Amino acid sequence: MSDDILRVEDLKVYYHTPSGPVKAVDGVTFALKPGERFGLVGESGSGKSTTALAIMRLIKPPGFIEGGRVYLGDQQLSELSNEEFRRVRLAEIALVPQGAMNSLNPVMRVKDQILDGVRSHQNGTSERQVEERLPELLGTVGLQPNVLGLYPHELSGGMKQRVCIAIGISLRPKVIIADEPTSALDVVVQRQIMQTLGNVQERLGASVLLVGHDMGLMAQFVDRIGVMYGGKLVEIAPVRDIFTEPLHPYTQLLISSLPSLETKGVFRGIPGTPPSLLSPPSGCVFHPRCPKAFARCSADIPNLREIKPGRWVSCHLY
Ligand code: SF4
Repeated sequence: MSDDILRVEDLKVYYHTPSGPVKAVDGVTFALKPGERFGLVGESGSGKSTTALAIMRLIKPPGFIEGGRVYLGDQQLSELSNEEFRRVRLAEIALVPQGAMNSLNPVMRVKDQILDGVRSHQNGTSERQVEERLPELLGTVGLQPNVLGLYPHELSGGMKQRVCIAIGISLRPKVIIADEPTSALDVVVQRQIMQTLGNVQERLGASVLLVGHDMGLMAQFVDRIGVMYGGKLVEIAPVRDIFTEPLHPYTQLLISSLPSLETKGVFRGIPGTPPSLLSPPSGCVFHPRCPKAFARCSADIPNLREIKPGRWVSCHLY
């Protein structure tokens, strides 16, 4: 028996193209403890959002989950039929999607959108019970009850994202996956949305998998961070360690490229370009850009290993 609430083992998602498979997620393994906030970061194309969608079984062709296992507690989600999985979704594991603007139905009132989600995922909680809780549910995400009667076009971006959070938590899931929940929102609203997400997470005692690229936001919200590069997890560590003592050369460059008051006016990027996932580099996928690469790096693929308690890194230096 494991005490993890969510466990992802050797997850692989490939997109099949005429030129061959694009390995968007290539052997990703990590786990969340109950009540934990875990951040998955990486540049675009690193596989972080694909990982989130694959956990929710929302990958669409030409993408396919090619391998791996996902466990919710001791239940192996990968073994469930589509119908069984549909019931688990929202009731036990919910997604707060990227771009709330596009994920709400423009011709349905907020109340009907929430009930619609409940109807298709019902699991013990009746529609009537949820309907009675709707004003309280909206209050939890900082919205007034009158929002229930409004259409999406009558809401601001921040309000739409709050509605998405309300839909996500309507059946009190154990795990909330939030995929870049504040993209396209201004900084003040971003902060409010993250606070709301934090409040509902604490209220439900749920775990959160937060997917994003904003390290500042991650620093304030999560307990641990997993850094993705080229479809692989290259480092996992408590959030403080990632900022004070990054181990993987990619994480080190990522942290040193963050703007600070000391380096004001100096923008430092990471030299080189992200790898092609159609024909990834041999050995370590980061080796063409790595300032610390040595002979072995282009020959052997490093494995993610725990090199000291709580510190996982995939690099031949360790
Ligand atoms: Fe750099 Fe080699 Fe480590 Fe890859 S394995 S990050 S190339 S030192």
